[in-house]
Amino acid sequence: MKSFVSPYNFVNDVDLKVDPKKIIVYDTTLRDGEQTPGICFTPDEKIEIAVKLDELGVPQIEAGFPVVSDGERRAIRNIMKQSLNSEILALTRTIKSDIDIALSCDVDGIITFIGSSDLHLKYKLKMTREQALSKAVEAVEYGKSHGLFVAFTAEDSTRTDLDFILDLFRAATDAGADRVHIADTTGSIRPMGMKYLITQIKNNIDNTIGIHCHDDFGLAVANSLAAFEAGAMAISTTVNGIGERAGNASLEEIIMNLRMLYGIEMPFKYEVLYELSRLVEKYTTMPVPKNKAIVGDNVFSHESGIHVSAIRSEPLTYEPYTPEFVGQKRKIILGKHCGMSSIEYKLDELGLSVPESEKEILILKIKEMAERGAKVGDKEFKNMVQEVLSKV
Ligand code: MN
Repeated sequence: MKSFVSPYNFVNDVDLKVDPKKIIVYDTTLRDGEQTPGICFTPDEKIEIAVKLDELGVPQIEAGFPVVSDGERRAIRNIMKQSLNSEILALTRTIKSDIDIALSCDVDGIITFIGSSDLHLKYKLKMTREQALSKAVEAVEYGKSHGLFVAFTAEDSTRTDLDFILDLFRAATDAGADRVHIADTTGSIRPMGMKYLITQIKNNIDNTIGIHCHDDFGLAVANSLAAFEAGAMAISTTVNGIGERAGNASLEEIIMNLRMLYGIEMPFKYEVLYELSRLVEKYTTMPVPKNKAIVGDNVFSHESGIHVSAIRSEPLTYEPYTPEFVGQKRKIILGKHCGMSSIEYKLDELGLSVPESEKEILILKIKEMAERGAKVGDKEFKNMVQEVLSKV
């Protein structure tokens, strides 16, 4: 794969010499992603998505919230039967019966969560901080005593006093938690704040830090990467960035940022990203925007004659990396901005040729059609070429 990204990225990267094996992407398409209003995967769809996530090489899949329904539990059990390489986690509240239900699904581990902000304690849980802390400890100990991998999430922790987050994480760590998660539940922190918060946790807590971000202000990916830069080694993602409200940090954007803009080689099969995106698009019926980073249909499409001309001599002039790397294809679009290069590219691509003198005529015809609002696809272009040739 050819790529060329800004050399300025690496100027301050002295602290970022991380061991790629220590970075854990824990994808939650099947849990938070499914909590997108109106979305409900069938058990078979869940299996198909889990298999594709496993093929990509995602090390941990949060497969569901078992307490929700029988169907959810069946889906998780069926995913377990696929013997995937990915570890399968289930979400639980910090309630023993939730963990028992997760255990009945045979999962490898749990993410157990409790709200930590005063808002959540007062209006949702009606608990004191002390009560929440003891629930957290109890759940972590219970999960660990049953041999599970246990990650503890402080929900809404980006709106929680630092002292209380540290108390919770210290207690969860002492109780045996394998990882502690910051959840930016309402997507309301910004990257500098995130960097500060994770630095404080890293300086005070001896555990792996995970990060779960929401996109309410369009910062889920930026905040996740800020957390990563400060030392959070586990990053929560969803395919196409689906999830509650504005969604979560997108899997494809996170892993491509790590690969391209951070230069970290990880053992992902990146070429399945496009296919995975379309699979989730199909089962959620949420169309992927054409301009969606990495997997959008316009990401490797070019119309401007100036760009097409440059791309014909070197694609990196207008692409940071080659489309095949993520399972995409380069597309030259014929339209109002096309030029001689676009015509030549298209003729080559379709195995056609016309006399030099006719190419200008084709350009004029395309521009005229585009300005009438008509689409000039391959079929229309072929017809146009036929017409021109018939007159030669
Ligand atoms: Mn969430």
